Amino acid sequence: MKSPLKYIRKNILALEPYSTARDEFKGGDISVWIDANESPYQNGVNRYPDPHQKLLKERISRLFDVPADSIFIGGAGSDEAIDIIYRVFCRPAIDNAIAITPSYGVYKVSADINDIQLREVELNDDFSLPVDRLLAAADAHTRVIWICSPNNPTGNAFPKNDILRLADEFDGMVIVDEAYIDFSEKGSLLHDIPQHPNIVVLRTFSKAWGMAGMRAGMAFAVPEVIAFFDRVKYPYNMSVIIQEELLKRIDEGTGDHIPEIKAERERLAKELSTADCVEEVYPSDANFILVRVSDAQAVYDFLIDNGVIVRNRSKMPLCKGALRVTVGTPEENIKTISLFKKFGK
Ligand SMILES: *Cc1c(COP(=O)(O)O)cnc(C)c1O
Repeated sequence: MKSPLKYIRKNILALEPYSTARDEFKGGDISVWIDANESPYQNGVNRYPDPHQKLLKERISRLFDVPADSIFIGGAGSDEAIDIIYRVFCRPAIDNAIAITPSYGVYKVSADINDIQLREVELNDDFSLPVDRLLAAADAHTRVIWICSPNNPTGNAFPKNDILRLADEFDGMVIVDEAYIDFSEKGSLLHDIPQHPNIVVLRTFSKAWGMAGMRAGMAFAVPEVIAFFDRVKYPYNMSVIIQEELLKRIDEGTGDHIPEIKAERERLAKELSTADCVEEVYPSDANFILVRVSDAQAVYDFLIDNGVIVRNRSKMPLCKGALRVTVGTPEENIKTISLFKKFGK
């Protein structure tokens, strides 16, 4: 097994992290807290939050059945984890990363911000994973490969064996963004991390958990790697209010929404495929569907004129004529379907 520590930047390995007042306090029976220059007047948020998010990590550990020290929590969603991954593994202006295309746009923006070259490798024509071409795009300075599965915007999840082969053959880190995995029948790689320690799995509370407004994302990796993510993050990257609210809402669960969205996705796909303007409905393992229409801009404008906004993805590679439609409530889906059927009539 490869040790992932060899992919971590030397300055990060040597980093002396910021030590908070709460870090230096080692326990005891304290009634007067005058170590952190906080206001002494209680209002619910006058104290700094736990920088290690201990309670939250314990709760997420039980939720996903993984060790608490294999969890990183980002207070700016999984976008925070994406940025931290560049900062931990990739030397600016020296190292590079690889991503599939079409895929999630943040991998590229974050690479540009960090001055990391991003090499984009097109999916195969059937949207399957080009494992050999991804490996061929790597050189001695490639530290990270991004795989989004289920992939945004194509909607398909990749077979686990393809991703595991990539991880076994690539001399660097493979990041698997599983933002939509709760909607998929294909398995998560979360529990493959101990056997494949160069894998990082990203998850988020923004999609199936219905908390995009909360801003909470997670990265899972072996504890040796997570220790460095935690050193690089801002010490207080998740507020008291969000930590408390998340704990409460995790206990409440996701309700019946995942089965309902999956059932609605199948109905939406079936109905959209019968609309005259729709040329193809791609299979989806996510909470959205990619559809190819005769004239993407015209359909997009027509939907907007009728109060419905979808994402026009027709300029992306392999996506000519493609619109990305998120599964809505049953009533919203009925409206969307009827508009697709009405277009051009
Ligand atoms: C929506 C999405 C996320 C979630 O991002 P957050 O910052 O956690 O809201 C991550 N990855 C992909 C591919 C997404 O589509």
